[in-house]
Amino acid sequence: MQKKQYKYIYGPVPSWRLGSSLGIDPVSMDEKICTFDCTYCQLWKTKNFCKKRSVFVPVKKIIDELKTLPDIEIDYITFSGVAEPTLAKNIGKMIKETKKMMNKKIAVLTNSTLLDRNDVQNDLLQADLVVAKLDAASQDVFEKINRPMDEFKLENIIQAIYDFRSIFNGKLALQIMFLEDNKHQAEEIAEIAKKIKPDEVQINTPLRPCEVEPLGEKEMKQISKCFKGMNVINVYEKEKKEVSSLSDEDTLRRRGKI
Ligand code: SF4
Repeated sequence: MQKKQYKYIYGPVPSWRLGSSLGIDPVSMDEKICTFDCTYCQLWKTKNFCKKRSVFVPVKKIIDELKTLPDIEIDYITFSGVAEPTLAKNIGKMIKETKKMMNKKIAVLTNSTLLDRNDVQNDLLQADLVVAKLDAASQDVFEKINRPMDEFKLENIIQAIYDFRSIFNGKLALQIMFLEDNKHQAEEIAEIAKKIKPDEVQINTPLRPCEVEPLGEKEMKQISKCFKGMNVINVYEKEKKEVSSLSDEDTLRRRGKI
């Protein structure tokens, strides 16, 4: 396939969670903008902490770029990229317009920090799949791993995911990154997950280049037992699809690895 330069679209990437996933970066800045600075982030360190929602890219620009796509196999169109995607104030409109044009399932990967806001909840209600991050069961471990902006409290984030679950009719997945620093909390995180009742629990460990080491296959298998009775997928056990990206450069900038 001939590679092309895109500004807002990347991939498709072979995602162990989503199959062939075409990414849309609704922020698309040169710098990462986030409410977290996770130790395992495959992007660079967060210099621009931000929790204010803004319009970074007009919806029309995304749609115009989607119109130039060749005919490719896509399982999901996924809103993610170099920033927390819910920081884009127009993500709701983007989801709506993308869905109308592409007729594909839409996923949003979020770190859950803005999920307590009504406007964010309303925007995400339009997605088919929301993948919400939850990596800790206590404030100290949360701060150690996710290194959030000062004011974020884990208990509020858990409550927000719980509240969103009660109004969201689409598929809700919890993504949990397990590392040396939180593996001892697997049971407690599983207890929280059971109360949230997600449709799926995605057990992950950082296999892309970053500043921390991943857990091994055996440890991850042990951890997944804590989630017994839930629909669990484990990064080591899920096969990836063969997928060819449209632009390697744009994809690598957002993922660190294809
Ligand atoms: S929430 Fe995502 S983008 Fe933000 S620091 Fe963590 S891993 Fe990186």
